[in-house]
Amino acid sequence: MKSGVDTGAIMKKYEVVIGLEVHAQLLTETKMFCRCSTKFGSEPNSQTCPVCIGMPGVLPVMNRKAVEYAILTGLATNCRIAPYSRFARKNYFYPDLPKNYQISQYELPLCENGFVEIVVDDEVKRIGITRIHMEEDAGKNIHEERGDHSFVDLNRTGVPLMEIVSEPDLRSPGEASEYMKKLRAILRYLGVCDGNMEQGSLRCDANVSIRPVGQNEFGTRAELKNINSFKFVEKALEYEIKRQVSVIEDGGRIIQETRLWDSAAGVTRSMRSKEEAHDYRYFPEPDLPPILVSQEWIDEIKAKLPELPDEKRKRFIGQHSLPEYDAELLTSEKAIADWYERVVEAGGQPKVVANWMMGDLMRLLNEENKSVDALLFGPAQMVGMLKLIDDDTISGKIAKTVFEEMYRTGKNAGDIVKEKGLVQISDTSEIEMAVDDVLAKSASEVERFKAGDEKLMGFFVGQVMKATKGKANPKMLNDLLKEKLGK
Ligand code: ADP
Ligand code: MG
Ligand code: ZN
Repeated sequence: MKSGVDTGAIMKKYEVVIGLEVHAQLLTETKMFCRCSTKFGSEPNSQTCPVCIGMPGVLPVMNRKAVEYAILTGLATNCRIAPYSRFARKNYFYPDLPKNYQISQYELPLCENGFVEIVVDDEVKRIGITRIHMEEDAGKNIHEERGDHSFVDLNRTGVPLMEIVSEPDLRSPGEASEYMKKLRAILRYLGVCDGNMEQGSLRCDANVSIRPVGQNEFGTRAELKNINSFKFVEKALEYEIKRQVSVIEDGGRIIQETRLWDSAAGVTRSMRSKEEAHDYRYFPEPDLPPILVSQEWIDEIKAKLPELPDEKRKRFIGQHSLPEYDAELLTSEKAIADWYERVVEAGGQPKVVANWMMGDLMRLLNEENKSVDALLFGPAQMVGMLKLIDDDTISGKIAKTVFEEMYRTGKNAGDIVKEKGLVQISDTSEIEMAVDDVLAKSASEVERFKAGDEKLMGFFVGQVMKATKGKANPKMLNDLLKEKLGK
């Protein structure tokens, strides 16, 4: 786009269309078609056997647990589970694929026609799931940073994956990352995938196109690969959308292609166009029987479904009167949701507890990349701290200091308050002295205030708080100041 034009207005002329293909590694102990371990981070090529390195004459045997996990995921995402599905060979040549074909599913996937819900601007939106199919992972090429050698680690070869394909229902990079987060939450609730994007157990290819607002047909899409964090889902899509808009605005045409996200440079680069796309010559896998799923098996698996994030969110809204946003955030991790409910059960006010957890607690946990399970204090201690605010022992501001100390040490809030002398001053005469002192020292500010500069109220409050080390009861302080200043 030419410089100096209103990019905001131009962007508004287009609607964004996004569909994601998400790969999730299943948390089975062994691989999809052999009994090698799936453990991450072992010595390269230590978890291989003739089956997964593709020696001639061997036969794959299906991992029942992996099929069960995929069905569980299908049920959790409202899919129809196919009573009859089968594996197919996807043929291509690459060093990390010793068989020269990947066992996948093609025309008959295991799960179809589902949906998940995301929350956008406090409203629930449904995102369609086209299909969920099973496949095996490939190995990993390792390229020397300096030098001219490349290595292949086949530990990951044959690890079970699910590919979850969404309908093109997403309308912004933000929606795409919300959808990813929701899928991750569901997978983790089910215990079928650890959702670790950095280690590659959850990966995503993002398909994106734009069309003029009001047009029915979709535009030509680009497929973005190599996205390995939530931040990059949004960044890669934002970059690509701007690129497509500027191509069209400059009179060009979008070509269907695969583009690689380069996170260091913050750009997407063309990898191959549709003309160069592989012809995978899919055909039914002759070495494996079809997957037959009986209604009894489905019912048996259904009985294992836990309360899922969306159900929990709805229950939280009804039971704890939380806004959609709070309920969505608090149910994103089962451990967080459980902890929240324990605090409320211990006597915490639902909305107050929600605010503390979404604010200070999550901030502290995120700083150290820590889970709520690793907290040094328990729900009852949390309620103990909230009581100190309620009965005016400490101000909300001091409570933040107390909370942080409780987080670091696991001590009771009451003990921290005593040790650090943080008890709120609720003695009128003591606050009055501090107020008088501040007003006496701020003659010119007092004059300006009386002349109408009411913003100075904040200044006076700040000065008294400073003098009392933040311990003055804020309500008493405010009342006293107003009285003294004749308000
Ligand atoms: P392929 O077989 O090439 O992978 P699919 O039809 O399976 O293509 O679609 C892959 C993904 O691309 C799906 O998630 C789908 O929602 C999405 N998609 C399809 N068409 C578009 C489009 N015009 N714009 C954005 N996404 C699209
Ligand atoms: Mg596809
Ligand atoms: Zn093996």
